Amino acid sequence: MSTDIQTAVIKRLEESLINRIAAGEIIHRPSSALKELLENALDAGATSIKITAKDGGLKLLQIQDNGSGIRKADLPILCERFTTSKLTAFEDLSALTTYGFRGEALASISHVAHLSVVTKTRTDSCAWRACYADGVLVPPKPGLTADPKPCAGNDGTLLTVEDLFYNTPTRLAALRSSSDEYKRILDVVTQYAVHNPTISFQCKKVGQAQSDVSTPGGSTVHQAIGLLYGSSLSKDLVHVAIDKQKEKETPWTAEAYISNPNHQSKRFTFLLFINHRLVDSLRMKRAIEAVYTGILPKGASPFVYLSLLLDPKDVDPNVHPTKREVHFLNEEAITQTIADYMQTSLTKEGTSRTFQTQTLLTGGTLDTSTPQRPSKRRKLDDENEEEIAPEAPRKVYSQYKVRTSLQDRTLDSWIPVTQNESSENAQPVTHVKEIKESECSLTSVGELRAEVLDNRHRGFAEILEKHIFVGIADCKLCLSLLQCDTKLYLVNHAALAEEFFYQIGLRQFGNMHKIKLEPAPPLRELIKLAVAADPEFSESGMAIDEGADTIAQILVDRAEMLEEYFAIKIDDKGLVQEIPMLLRDYKPNLDKLPLFLMRLGPQVQWDSEKGCMSSFLRELAYFYTPDTQRSPSRDDSGDSGGDSGMDGAEKAARWQIQHILFPAMRKYFVPPKSLLDREVVQIANLPDLYRVFERC
Ligand code: ADP
Ligand code: MG
Repeated sequence: MSTDIQTAVIKRLEESLINRIAAGEIIHRPSSALKELLENALDAGATSIKITAKDGGLKLLQIQDNGSGIRKADLPILCERFTTSKLTAFEDLSALTTYGFRGEALASISHVAHLSVVTKTRTDSCAWRACYADGVLVPPKPGLTADPKPCAGNDGTLLTVEDLFYNTPTRLAALRSSSDEYKRILDVVTQYAVHNPTISFQCKKVGQAQSDVSTPGGSTVHQAIGLLYGSSLSKDLVHVAIDKQKEKETPWTAEAYISNPNHQSKRFTFLLFINHRLVDSLRMKRAIEAVYTGILPKGASPFVYLSLLLDPKDVDPNVHPTKREVHFLNEEAITQTIADYMQTSLTKEGTSRTFQTQTLLTGGTLDTSTPQRPSKRRKLDDENEEEIAPEAPRKVYSQYKVRTSLQDRTLDSWIPVTQNESSENAQPVTHVKEIKESECSLTSVGELRAEVLDNRHRGFAEILEKHIFVGIADCKLCLSLLQCDTKLYLVNHAALAEEFFYQIGLRQFGNMHKIKLEPAPPLRELIKLAVAADPEFSESGMAIDEGADTIAQILVDRAEMLEEYFAIKIDDKGLVQEIPMLLRDYKPNLDKLPLFLMRLGPQVQWDSEKGCMSSFLRELAYFYTPDTQRSPSRDDSGDSGGDSGMDGAEKAARWQIQHILFPAMRKYFVPPKSLLDREVVQIANLPDLYRVFERC
């Protein structure tokens, strides 16, 4: 009957459509297809893998391996869904350690591309060639049969994927550019090449003589990182190995190569393999980032390679194997343990730039009644702290001498000053101009102010109130030394400053002093400068002019509010006349003005009152935060104290940190505990140091 036939046709269509959609879930782009193919080749025991791509893998993606090959008898069902040589019963799922294990990859690819294979096992006398579409064998050309044909070929498998997404135009359109896709391909190959250093990898574009990625095989992970990510990085790597195989509940082991603080890059490079599969774990990423926030300056990121081996039964099998984000049993505890090991290894490294041994000050309150008399016995609540001064003697032993005045020598005073410009700067400013709290009836501002007070940490506040500034230890890393009684602290002054500027912005909300810009620069041009310099933006594919216009318009539309609340004056010609002055005599780095204005567009939550206030003030604070990382390329002299090549701008920046910023913080900063945990490290206690020297 004709109706029956129609029904059948419709059903077939639906099925192929569904398959196509399902395939799209697994194969998002050329690099995700490549990841599956690489895993198959590795599963097949290949020792050499060669990849060729055309148009970013969209036109052609070819992968040749010298692995086991596929038996001819298996070819007809190779691309059917759920055909896999790796899984026969459901129970096997938990025992499986190979890469993919659901037999879906090749099937999926055959639904969205033209797929062909030439393969030869060691025992076959010749190779076999087969073509696939929608999961089944198809003839290579109309008129021929679909059966596999004998042909010449090497041991192993050559898989060719052509015209990826030819039948799903929307997906094709969603991909950006072939150069971007090729970059992703190289990225996947590079990461697998690091993880499989004994195997030789090559990847290149069609028709190109030289490979873009090439590894010899037969090396170690460390060597592979050096080869693929640069030899300077490989010098800065710390090896971390963790063996928790004896653990009862979830036995596991991990091996990592992580960069020490001498390595600082713009982006966090994180290679994570779980049971040899390249995966993502946001939780792990966050935990590792947290380890480094205390070690690297703001804006700098580490390199981390981590390979984690778990009992496969502990890895969540319900998570789709091709979804990159994984979950496993005891994830939180294991993640924390790994982060702790990394922290410890970095500390042990003990380079001149690592200071992260953290002695928490929580609870350690100091007797404030006689702040300037060091020989007096101090009471310490913290039971771990010993009594640090004898009861009676009037004589002050050297180890109890503390800095008591701003006139004491600082580190800078040991560095000969030659320029005359600094002579006027040399007199310390001893009084801080008053920062009045503005009256404000907005509940949002009231709430934000209350939150600041709620988060105050007493012990930390005391350190800041009583501290004596010793010096800037490292201007690039934003580290300063503060002394409080007999203790020496290393603080990240940029992190402190950022929170401090937020607080004084909030304090002066609606009543800030102003810095007049002369001549007033055009808002749109400033934003355009920042947009053009932003790599994220150029990746987004939006035109620079368009992006800058959008952001400028957001600000122009709100000009009245910006002026009333935040002292930013944009006139009707679009010129920036005034910007807020948060702290008298403190000049923000105006080079950062374009970035500041640009960030206001996307970063400020314009649609909620409280969100807007706090995010705006955070951005303003970020603009004000000193960052003296002028030269992103580090000098490799390894001498962190060598500031001999300091330029005038850096001198001025250092001067205002010492003479304006810290004195103001002493008076107005309400430091929260979160900062104490992350950004302050007690590096010495004078009596302990003396104990060390006595032994010498
Ligand atoms: P899975 O890898 O999950 O088993 P795939 O669809 O990726 O599913 O592959 C299906 C099967 O094809 C594999 O189980 C394997 O037997 C075979 N196969 C795929 N690629 C190769 C290869 N490069 N060498 C040998 N066998 C392969
Ligand atoms: Mg597979």
